[in-house]
Amino acid sequence: MADVYNWQLGRKMEYIYEEHHPRKQISWVYDLNKCIGCHTCSLGCKTTWTSGRGQEYMFWNSVETKPYGYWPLGWDVRLLEVLGVQEWKGDKYNGKTIFEAAGPEKAFLGFLPETEDWAYPNLGEDDLSSPVEKGSHFSLPHIAWMFYFPRTCNHCTYPACLAACPRKAIYKREEDGVVLIDQHRCRGYRECIRACPYKRPMFNTVSKVSEKCIACYPALAEGVQSRCVVNCIGKIRIQGFKNRHDKPDPENPIDFLVHFKKIGLPIYPQFGLEPNLYYIPPIHVPIPYLRQMFGPGAAQAVATYQRMREGKEPEIQAILHLMTSTEYIVTRFLVKGSEVIGYDEKQKEVVRVPVREPIHVRPHYDEKLAVYRHNIT
Ligand code: SF4
Ligand code: SF4
Repeated sequence: MADVYNWQLGRKMEYIYEEHHPRKQISWVYDLNKCIGCHTCSLGCKTTWTSGRGQEYMFWNSVETKPYGYWPLGWDVRLLEVLGVQEWKGDKYNGKTIFEAAGPEKAFLGFLPETEDWAYPNLGEDDLSSPVEKGSHFSLPHIAWMFYFPRTCNHCTYPACLAACPRKAIYKREEDGVVLIDQHRCRGYRECIRACPYKRPMFNTVSKVSEKCIACYPALAEGVQSRCVVNCIGKIRIQGFKNRHDKPDPENPIDFLVHFKKIGLPIYPQFGLEPNLYYIPPIHVPIPYLRQMFGPGAAQAVATYQRMREGKEPEIQAILHLMTSTEYIVTRFLVKGSEVIGYDEKQKEVVRVPVREPIHVRPHYDEKLAVYRHNIT
């Protein structure tokens, strides 16, 4: 085991291979306040990559409803239960990761879901945390709550799938940090599925090998976003390349949200994989739940988002608006007056939008057509 630095834990940890960082790291930030659970992302992925034989049940992108939705069944709670005390002291994690909690006999703590565990992708969909009592009214945080939780592979910095593969069939690309399974080397031992705490590799029952999200790497090479991002109806998804934690660039939109504003948080950082998909937590959910899921920065991220809603964080607002207004990957943003401009890797302008989207209100009654409008904005 090597000692590697995991910035999300604020400390070094054990990993099977030496610390290594790709030239660029593909990353995402999802705003969970905007997801409407429409599953268009899942279908955009499915129709592109997993419509073949043996892939019938596969969703490389899936959307579940928290707190009671899971796909596969209990993927997170089953591991959280056996991981031990997950204590944070400030920004430093004092508990054990899945690598450290494994014990001398094993390389990681994990489990292989049964076939039936994959059978119900919409289990718990739209279920609330508790019944809604008569006479209750909206307040923050909500008494009864739920939120949609879209998931793909996190293209982790320290992937458990890669660490677990006895065939060394899994690799992390130097050019963009995408984690891939070599379909020719894989023998279908499913150790990657057992090891990945997010359960993102899946077994193809016809080809008898494992498969997973490939981050639409052919699109990335053209500077275009992944299918799930381009197709997102709620415009919750921001995609780009993240710099290392010790060399963040304030003009890089992902760095700005993750390292400067700390509003984009990793999912279950305590597992120790340094996932590269970040989430803006839903502001209506109790902080203890968010803290368990997104780490110690949850309360601050919610407060920052609230400030943005009050117009006090115009740059965050500008990024959220900018990045979801183009299919191209924006690597630099610049706020200029009332506009925000996005540039690609070649520093070419690819998109320009107002920081605040203008709202036009039309009259409720249209005299010319003699009709009433229900939608006036
Ligand atoms: S999320 Fe799972 S499958 Fe994806 S890179 Fe991390 S460990 Fe591997
Ligand atoms: S397409 Fe976007 S809004 Fe719809 S479920 Fe997927 S992430 Fe959520």
